Amino acid sequence: MDSVKRQLAKWIDEDRETIIAFLRDFVRAKSPNPPGDTTLAAAHVTRFLEARALPFRVIAPQPTMPNIVGTFEGGRPGRHLVLNGHIDVFPADETNERWTHGPWSGTIADGKIYGRGVADMKAGTSASIFTFAYLHRIREHLKGRLTLTAVSDEETFGPWGARYLMEHHAEVHGDCLLNGEPSSPLTIRFGEKGPLWLRFTTRTKGAHGAYTHLTPSATKIAARLILDLEELTTLQPSVPVEIADALAGAAAAIDEAQGPGAKDIVQRVTLNIGVIHGGLKVNMVPGTCVFEADVRLPPGLGKDEVLAKIQRILGGYPETTLEEINYSAPSAGDPNHEMVGILRANARALGRPDPAPILSLGGTDARLWRQRGIPGLVHGPFPRGMAQADEHVEIEEYLHIVRMHVLSAFDYLSR
Ligand SMILES: [Zn+2]
Repeated sequence: MDSVKRQLAKWIDEDRETIIAFLRDFVRAKSPNPPGDTTLAAAHVTRFLEARALPFRVIAPQPTMPNIVGTFEGGRPGRHLVLNGHIDVFPADETNERWTHGPWSGTIADGKIYGRGVADMKAGTSASIFTFAYLHRIREHLKGRLTLTAVSDEETFGPWGARYLMEHHAEVHGDCLLNGEPSSPLTIRFGEKGPLWLRFTTRTKGAHGAYTHLTPSATKIAARLILDLEELTTLQPSVPVEIADALAGAAAAIDEAQGPGAKDIVQRVTLNIGVIHGGLKVNMVPGTCVFEADVRLPPGLGKDEVLAKIQRILGGYPETTLEEINYSAPSAGDPNHEMVGILRANARALGRPDPAPILSLGGTDARLWRQRGIPGLVHGPFPRGMAQADEHVEIEEYLHIVRMHVLSAFDYLSR
C-alpha cells in the first residue's frame, strides 16, 4: 500500500474513539424532518470543522435548514470529487415506537450505536466529514479538488438542501460523487428508482345510502381503478446491457441489502396506494374519493410512458381526474465506473466481501448528480431499523465505512 494511504488508515485506527464520539454527539444533535430544523446538527459539524481549521461556508437559503459546503485543492491539478450526506433525519414517534434506548441518546450497547438517524444517515455523513478532514491533512499529495456537502432537507425531498446547491452553486457538481446513505457494505449503488406521486380524485353526485340507483359510488369507482392501475407493473424498462449484466450478477446482494424479493422489483414499476379518503358516513353513497399513488419507476422507463398508460386506463373512468404531486426521474450511471472499481478493491483489501454494484429501490440525493450525468455512488452501512424503533449501526461497520470513504477518495484523487 502507498505510504500516504497507510498513514490515513493508521489515523483512523488511532482516532477510533473520536470517530465514535462524533457520531454519538451527532445523533444527540436532534434534526427530525419534519419539521426539518437542522441548526443543532449543523452546529455539531461546523464546530468539528472549525476546531480543525478546515475551510467551509454555510449556505442557508432557508435559515433553519443550513447546508455546509467545504472545498480545497490538492497539490496538483486533477479531478473533482464531491462528498455528500444529509444531516436531517426521520422523526421519532416516541409514544408509539418501542425504543430500547432513547431515539436521541446515541447509546452504545452490544457494539452498536443506537438512535434516530444514526443509519440514515449520520454514520454515512460522518464518513464524508472525516474523509474531508483526513484528506485535507495530506492535500499536498492529491491531484484535483475535494468538496464536502453536508445538507439539510433530504428526508422530504425538499428544495432547500442538495437541490438548492445543485441549482445555484455549480461548484458542487464535480466529476464524481460519493455518498454514504444506508445501503450495505455488500453493495455499491450506481443508480436508483424514481418516485412519481399522483393524486386521483373521483367525483359523482352522491346520494342517500338506500338510493344506490340514483348515483354511481365514488369509492367503488376508485376501488376498480386501483385494481386496474396494477397494470402499470407490467411496463418494461429498456435497460442498457451493462446495467442488466451488473444486476443479473448481483441478485443475492440486492436481496441481502434490501430484503428478500427486492431483486424481483428493482427493474419493475411498483405501485403503492399510500393514502385513500372517501365518503362521509356509512349510510351515504360517497360523492368523492381521493387516493394517492406512489409509483416507482426503474431506470430505463420515463414518466411519459407511465402517464400515457395511466391516461389510457383513465379513459374508462370519466369521473376521475389526475394530478401530479411529485416526480424525480430514475437515475443510473455506469456500474463499471472507475470509482466502483476503487471501492471494490478497497473492500477486498480490507478483508471484506467484494461489494456488488446494484440499483437502489429508495431515493437519495445522489440522483441529483446522476441526473446531470455525473456518476453518483452510494456506499454506506446496513439500514438497520431505518425509520423504525431501535435504529442502529454496528460500530465496526461504521468504522469500515469511514475507512472505505477515506481510502477510496484518496485513490480517486491520487491516480
Ligand atoms: Zn437518507
